[in-house]
Amino acid sequence: MRIGFGSDTHRLVPGRLLKLGGIVIDSQTGAEAHSDGDVLIHALIDAMLGAAVLGDIGELFTPGDPEWKDADSRDLLAIVMEKMCIAGFSLIHMDSVIHLEKPSLKPYKNTIQKSLAGLLMMDIDHISIKAKTAEGLGSVGMGESISAEVIVLMEKTEPDAWV
Ligand code: MG
Repeated sequence: MRIGFGSDTHRLVPGRLLKLGGIVIDSQTGAEAHSDGDVLIHALIDAMLGAAVLGDIGELFTPGDPEWKDADSRDLLAIVMEKMCIAGFSLIHMDSVIHLEKPSLKPYKNTIQKSLAGLLMMDIDHISIKAKTAEGLGSVGMGESISAEVIVLMEKTEPDAWV
């Protein structure tokens, strides 16, 4: 068994879609990013890579690389899942915290959970989505940024020869 931890932060700006776990959130602002700026998926990717000790998202998808311009983070996740599979790791459980001042994510949590369950081919019972505001404090509180933290439990299922 391995644990992995990942976090991600993006600036919030007008004129961008706000995406979390592959779901579009109705918002006045969205994440400024080279890709679609889905902080939840980016933190999840880093957590999975961390559990497998396979580097980080920036090493895998070089920032500024035209190949990943406006990339759908779900596609990045699919690439990382394939990497995990080849390395013999399977995801058992994930827990997360999203830091966002507004809008409230309460109405979206279940949809995000279902979206990730589909992408990860996992039961929603093992996908925990939590959201917090920052009580008006700091860049999250001022509505200037969004961030996410994800922790995963992974199991190494295949022999090392697979790597
Ligand atoms: Mg990111």
